[in-house]
Amino acid sequence: MDNQNLFDPKKPSGPVKTKGYTIYVDRSLCIGAATCIAVSEKTFALDNEAKAVILKTADSEKIETIIEAAKACPVSAIIIEDELGNRIFPK
Ligand code: SF4
Repeated sequence: MDNQNLFDPKKPSGPVKTKGYTIYVDRSLCIGAATCIAVSEKTFALDNEAKAVILKTADSEKIETIIEAAKACPVSAIIIEDELGNRIFPK
């Protein structure tokens, strides 16, 4: 994984803030299924531990698409909160 492409190299799986939303991957849940990448390849990639990380190009992805990716994750490892800290997904 090229660190240059990470949204935040210090926190590869987040949390990161984009468009007023906070997004992170629970690495203990992620099983590397890569469904999130199929839905939003601008936002997610797998690192060398087969855990999802968040790319800086997430900023150019629609939030709706990122939420779709979170919904598509078979283990609900992608967590999204709004600017008030309310859980958007998973509920
Ligand atoms: S879809 Fe879920 S389990 Fe699969 S890589 Fe993405 S976060 Fe991990």
